[in-house]
Amino acid sequence: MLQQGLSFDTPFGPSPDFKLFETVGGRRCLTVRLHGWRDGVSRGLASRQVFSVLHRAGVRRIISEAGVGSLNPLLDPRDIVIPDDYVDLTTARGSEPVVGGRLLIMRDPVCGTIASSLTAAARELADGRVFDRGTCVVTEGPRFESRAEVRVIGAMGDVVGQSMCPEVWLARDIGACYGALYVVVNYGEGVVADWEHGLLSDIFSDHATIQAGIILKAIDAADETAACGCAELSKPTLLD
Ligand SMILES: [Zn+2]
Repeated sequence: MLQQGLSFDTPFGPSPDFKLFETVGGRRCLTVRLHGWRDGVSRGLASRQVFSVLHRAGVRRIISEAGVGSLNPLLDPRDIVIPDDYVDLTTARGSEPVVGGRLLIMRDPVCGTIASSLTAAARELADGRVFDRGTCVVTEGPRFESRAEVRVIGAMGDVVGQSMCPEVWLARDIGACYGALYVVVNYGEGVVADWEHGLLSDIFSDHATIQAGIILKAIDAADETAACGCAELSKPTLLD
């Protein structure tokens, strides 16, 4: 750990605390919690505070981690999904960019280089199955979905979560690559079986070390010289 308790003023309000650390391989990283850390700060504002800091820090690669529910009946708790696409069903997080002035093309929203590194690391370290593709349907939360809602959104993707938007496009907005590591913590309502709160809680606590190990290994293994193509998916806006 190099520094902790790093908070910064941003145009969207004071940021949450970041930690700065260096990996075994010598790569400098910032880490921050996005969920559940301050009362009175909306989810959309929280994301913009974080991405404003990442932008000014010159961050080039972003990896997010979260627990998700299953929509695809082939998935089970403890399976890992490295998503490659998303459907944004959030309703209260805003469309305002942090930087702006660019047309953000979301054809390949997840960086292939980061996804490959995460997949390889997960296949080495995970205790469940690892899927290197999948669509995440992003809901507003914080409540979970009803059975009828899951039936509808089950046609849209493989997992449901509350963490990929707006971060996936804010990353493109600030010119950074984005990848995500999700662990299935519960079945979606009406999918396979009723989920158990105890199991969800157990996975969140006992899987944290595994996920951290996967992410740290993926960071050090990522080829910084690989031409991922993410930068090509942001163009000057035609709307000015
Ligand atoms: Zn990339």
